Amino acid sequence: MNLTNVYMRGFFLLILWSCIPLLSCISTAQAQNFTVVIDAGHGGKDPGAVGKIAKEKDINLKVALKLGELLKNQSDIKTIYTRKSDVFIALDRRTQIANEAAADLFVSIHTNALPNSRTYMGASTYTLGLSKSDANLAVAKRENAVIMYESDYQTRYAGFNPNSSESYIIFEFMQDKYMSQSVHLADLLQRQFKSHCKRTDRGVHQAGFLVLKTAAMPSVLIELGFISSPEEEKYLVSENGTSTLARGIYNAIVSYKDEQLSQRAEAERLARTARPEGKPVPKVIPDSIPEAALEGNIPLPIVNTPTPSAAVRPKATPEVTKEKVSTDGKITFAVQILTSTEKLKPTDYRFKGLKDAEHYVERGIYKYIYGSSDNYEQVLKTRRTIASKFKDAWIVAFQNGKRIDTNQAVEAYKQQNKR
Ligand SMILES: [Zn+2]
Repeated sequence: MNLTNVYMRGFFLLILWSCIPLLSCISTAQAQNFTVVIDAGHGGKDPGAVGKIAKEKDINLKVALKLGELLKNQSDIKTIYTRKSDVFIALDRRTQIANEAAADLFVSIHTNALPNSRTYMGASTYTLGLSKSDANLAVAKRENAVIMYESDYQTRYAGFNPNSSESYIIFEFMQDKYMSQSVHLADLLQRQFKSHCKRTDRGVHQAGFLVLKTAAMPSVLIELGFISSPEEEKYLVSENGTSTLARGIYNAIVSYKDEQLSQRAEAERLARTARPEGKPVPKVIPDSIPEAALEGNIPLPIVNTPTPSAAVRPKATPEVTKEKVSTDGKITFAVQILTSTEKLKPTDYRFKGLKDAEHYVERGIYKYIYGSSDNYEQVLKTRRTIASKFKDAWIVAFQNGKRIDTNQAVEAYKQQNKR
């Protein structure tokens, strides 16, 4: 025991000593308060989609490594790779790495393929959810099929069959509490793919990706482009292509990180003013309001709110009672149909002829909703009615004019309507 102590002491002294010449060592480590996990899809025996001249696994890795190099420019970002070379990594290990690191972001990089088209091109970003179109389901199926490289996949993934549509029902009942943050990052990514990388914008979608399922943080899966299109494949393997794509992803991550860190700083400032001196300030996770609030009445910032006291969100309780719903303001539900970086005209083609869409603004993004009602079943019905036009629409909830966790809102609704 004593010997171990001596060794440990020696070890710490060694670390301390080696840090002295590098004065920035400690401060840099402290400043790295935003962790990004970069996941290059596939690897080793799993090539991913295969093109005429390239394999998906190599494109993904090249972009991942270039992205990691760029992220070194950000002293407050810590980067972790799930793989840095051509090795096979089990699918569930990838998010495990991110969860163990308590990462702030999980970014999985992939390359798309469409067997029946040689001309389909463009970049898209997926967040976790139920695929509402066959095309999105097909992408999820292809990406999830990698688990079949793992001999014990049936037990490891609880009988999930990546090729059976029925298996995907699990994603219907999953509520992703990081959805709005993930979708926000996906929006930023798509903006970059379009403006910086000059790629066709294939949009933000939801689908049942196993790799995102267990991520305990906002997460996205990027499909850089189509390896099945000879023209795009050439771009995807080129130095210019991989560098430009990496730069686009980098730009989006940095914007996202800057927003998150400034919100965190603001929340901590408010918490300090709201708390007696000397009390520690808890780590605040903006946007996952109910969870953070459940942990102990953590004040969170509300943009444009003038006074700290008004900015402190009310404590959410695990069981939202009928009284709470009625006294704190009615909960309303709506179908979120699309988001935009700019305000859209009611006649905009993206509404697909739908009239009376309303909007709210979250971190500079206009989010359009439709069919708001305090009747959850009614809103479910509305979603079904417009599903053919808005395949990725999902349900959001509001209380006192603020977005609230849909899960909790549905819970409250069920409690209220219990007979
Ligand atoms: Zn892939």
